[in-house]
Amino acid sequence: MLQPSPWRADFPAVAALHRQHQTYLDSAATAQKPQAMLDALARYYGGGAANVHRAQHVPGALATQAFEATRSALAAWTGGGEAQQFIFTHGATSALNLLAYGLEHGFEAGDEIAVSALEHHANLLPWQQLARRRGLRLVILPIDAQGRIDLEQALQLIGPRTRLLAVSQLSNVLGTWQPLAPLLAHARAQGALSVVDGAQGVVHGRPDLHQLGCDFYVFSSHKLYGPDGVGVLYGRQPALAHLKHWQYGGEMVHLAGYHEASFRPAPLGFEAGTPPVAGVIGLGATLAYLNGLDLSAVAAHEAALHRALCEGLVAREGVRLLGDPQVALASFVVDGVHTADIAHLLTEQGIAVRAGHHCAMPLLEQLGLGGAIRVSLGLYNDGDDLARFFDAFDHALALLR
Ligand code: PMP
Repeated sequence: MLQPSPWRADFPAVAALHRQHQTYLDSAATAQKPQAMLDALARYYGGGAANVHRAQHVPGALATQAFEATRSALAAWTGGGEAQQFIFTHGATSALNLLAYGLEHGFEAGDEIAVSALEHHANLLPWQQLARRRGLRLVILPIDAQGRIDLEQALQLIGPRTRLLAVSQLSNVLGTWQPLAPLLAHARAQGALSVVDGAQGVVHGRPDLHQLGCDFYVFSSHKLYGPDGVGVLYGRQPALAHLKHWQYGGEMVHLAGYHEASFRPAPLGFEAGTPPVAGVIGLGATLAYLNGLDLSAVAAHEAALHRALCEGLVAREGVRLLGDPQVALASFVVDGVHTADIAHLLTEQGIAVRAGHHCAMPLLEQLGLGGAIRVSLGLYNDGDDLARFFDAFDHALALLR
């Protein structure tokens, strides 16, 4: 028997969606928001918006204080680095693009970048295009049948020519944790920089960035129950110092003349223009909300739901899970039934799940699939959501077979 989610009432949109006859099971795409975050946005916008860092007036000072408090909260939340190690971007994608441009100067033709076969396009295309610009070799680390990077092969493929390793922590398609510790240690021993795409992982296991041992870690606020339009790029100090500036304008500049300029170091040097002030303040409120939760209770609730989801799926004839999902989500196809037809019938019945290639076209192609359906969970989901999903799914299967 699944317990109700004790946190459901903290997320007003879940009830609102319910009133619209929608069962939201797409949190891996974006998550609903806690009231605490909505209150923080209303306080900021209702109390007086102001730009950060440059204004000498009181509203500007208050906005800057609240904005910078989120940087400190991030440092505390992720294992105690320095606040100055966290750069705000507009999302995980823009953080990864920042890295691909900011690190470009360190590569020479013939150098290698290693990525895994399961990467989201956001952690593949910036490196692929960098490789094309600089004549680098993009090495693809294969995955095993469970959906994890094949360690034995990966350790062979990451060698002295590898200048950078970029891998996800938790697959957005397969729901599998990746073997980061040995991969990162090996990359470092080979002298390569490492980038971890934590877009999914950060939501389901609070990262200890110090212990993880990567050079860079990126994620998006909107998947972590925070506002959209905000991304976070964490870097180890020496790795941050290696980054070249990539976008130019206000805020990031130290001194500017008509013909030359000098630039600030991280983080402000990489936050050109007005940053997403409200979004960053809202992320701070979300982190405070998450800090107040019993994280082991959250993990236990999510694990029980995930188990029920996977068991329910495989109990149905012809359903094939992609890989061996461990947490948060499950993607599947049904033998003899077109994914788009199932998706259509689920949508008609008010079930909000995702169907398609999940921004991982090469992975789906490698699995021999044109698409798959992904059901993903947030801490506010409960057994009733799953029951509604399975009722609708059974109805769809009965119609289609
Ligand atoms: N990496 C992974 C693993 C993701 O799931 C996503 C979002 N689907 C991203 C990167 C990109 O995040 P965003 O769209 O917020 O930039």
